[in-house]
Amino acid sequence: MCVSRRQVLIGSAAVAVAGAGLPGVAFASGRSGVGLRWLGVAGWELLFDGRRVLIDPYLSRLPVFDEDGKFIADHPLEVRQDLVDRHLGERPELVLATHGHYDHLLEIPTVVAKHGSRVIGTETHRHLLTAQGVPGDGVVVASGGEHLDFHGFTVQVFRSLHSQFGSYGYFAPGSLTAPPAPPTTISDLVEGGSLAYMITVRGFSVLFLSGTANYVEREIAGLRPDVLVLGMSGHANVHDYTARALRATRPKLLIPSHHDDMVTQLDDPALPPRGNPAAAAELTETARRIGLAARVLDPEILRRYEL
Ligand SMILES: [Zn+2]
Repeated sequence: MCVSRRQVLIGSAAVAVAGAGLPGVAFASGRSGVGLRWLGVAGWELLFDGRRVLIDPYLSRLPVFDEDGKFIADHPLEVRQDLVDRHLGERPELVLATHGHYDHLLEIPTVVAKHGSRVIGTETHRHLLTAQGVPGDGVVVASGGEHLDFHGFTVQVFRSLHSQFGSYGYFAPGSLTAPPAPPTTISDLVEGGSLAYMITVRGFSVLFLSGTANYVEREIAGLRPDVLVLGMSGHANVHDYTARALRATRPKLLIPSHHDDMVTQLDDPALPPRGNPAAAAELTETARRIGLAARVLDPEILRRYEL
């Protein structure tokens, strides 16, 4: 997902007023044996039984806005290998791609080269990854509807949608039927379809509608996850976005995703520990409005929470 800094700020200002004075933050119970760590942007790590799954890891936070806040569409692709080594040192057995954009797919080849992890994504995502040296047989191609057993946990894949911005479109759309030339700029990493995932460990389920701020309501209706991780920026043009997601899934715990500035480096002391507080406030206010007794966790970047 890619939005301009200006769009993020405009959206937040409106929400901050609606959420003012609400309790906002609650903490997870720690009884499931499942841990969750926000990596910043839309990146997540789920930990359980000594096993790890990554979703959209993106630590490099490319400086894609110029001095005037304008988006640099031909920004070169550069991975912060030092941050990958520091923060993703333990092997994830699986990496889930929600879509092909740079802030979701960029570091997957690095993680695979380092750890030999298996990846799930669409056909286009496989072509983008093989163009960057990822072995094709290490990428499971999914289109939504799959229910995969990893023996100790399961992954359900759901057809999903990209966020729709001011013009009801988005940056770098497109799909591929063969591997392209090796990608060099952020525009080369096209969306290639969007997916959502639900991971279930011993009956405890976490639904990741985390990579975009959109979904297919009929795909997720009735899922009843314990936890919903929901993309929370750039949804002004998606009708009743937050309430429809909560009504369709009725989770017990709500966690915002993709709600930080995307560019302040992880090792910059100026990085706020949490994302935009308007995201958690909107989740809290929406749950209250529709009568859903869910708690909201406003996570700190890189902190592990026991769910
Ligand atoms: Zn995107």
